[in-house]
Amino acid sequence: MRIPGLKTAKMLSRWLQGRVNGGALIVGYHRIASPSKDQYEICVSPTHFAEHLEILRKHAHPIRLSDLVDHLKQGTLPRKSVAVTFDDGYVDNLHNAGQLLEQYQIPATVFISTAYLGEEFWWDELERLVMDAPALPPSLRLKIRAEPFEWVSMPSEEEPGSPAEQSARKGLVKALYFRLLPLEIEACKEVISELKNMFGSQARRDTTQRALTTDELSELSNSGWVEIGAHSVSHTVLPHLSVAQQQTEIQQCKVFLEELLGKPVLGFAYPHGKFNAQTQAAVKTAGYSFACSSQAGQAWQSQQRYALPRIWPQDWDGERFTRMLRFWLGI
Ligand SMILES: [Zn+2]
Repeated sequence: MRIPGLKTAKMLSRWLQGRVNGGALIVGYHRIASPSKDQYEICVSPTHFAEHLEILRKHAHPIRLSDLVDHLKQGTLPRKSVAVTFDDGYVDNLHNAGQLLEQYQIPATVFISTAYLGEEFWWDELERLVMDAPALPPSLRLKIRAEPFEWVSMPSEEEPGSPAEQSARKGLVKALYFRLLPLEIEACKEVISELKNMFGSQARRDTTQRALTTDELSELSNSGWVEIGAHSVSHTVLPHLSVAQQQTEIQQCKVFLEELLGKPVLGFAYPHGKFNAQTQAAVKTAGYSFACSSQAGQAWQSQQRYALPRIWPQDWDGERFTRMLRFWLGI
């Protein structure tokens, strides 16, 4: 049973504990870019990101995430500590974020899903194919892992590009995204390939909407401001996999990154923030020192280090970002 308001009450309780105990904040980003489309709301503009960093430099204590975890273990966490993290490893983390991190001398951790290096993520390809298709069919029938998926399009009189037609396209992206989210990468790729056949692959690919290549990842890792963490091999929701599959996803990602970069990879971020007891056990067994979730809150005790909470700033200006920091850290 779900008791209304319980989620908020729990969050407030965590917030209070964090404030009382002088907890640190871990902020999470995905992309630092201003693309024409951002349906998943994962982009922060370089201008706004620079404002966030300037505020952190002035009013907080920016700290590398692995150092934050060491302080948690030793009970020596500096007040107003904030660690910056990025999930997925988009190429703009190097070209847009990297330069700003260096300018403001703020360290960050970038969590990488190794199967996507140099590639477009399936959810971005889905958005691109549906939004850029010359026209959508009146209805769409697919088999997704033997289950029917049916979608009825916009009324036929809608002109391509009209607000109603755009909103119908967004509705299809959203419906397919949530249908594919729990599935393994092969199932997602099968559906994407079917959509390509239906809508045509002439849709324009934005070359900045992709993951870092191995060379770019090495460059980012050598920049001095960024430590690399792991984000699984295929970015699947791990608790949906068998224990053995979870272990493979978690271990192979670490082995690959350590071989490529020649450095230990200490941190893991759960894809979509989702984990269960088996996921946590696999992360510990693989030798990671800490793992990030997506649950909101402050980090203030060592026991949290395999489920570190994070806050996700959106494309906020400095004023909105300061309000968030004030709420969580009391600055
Ligand atoms: Zn992710």
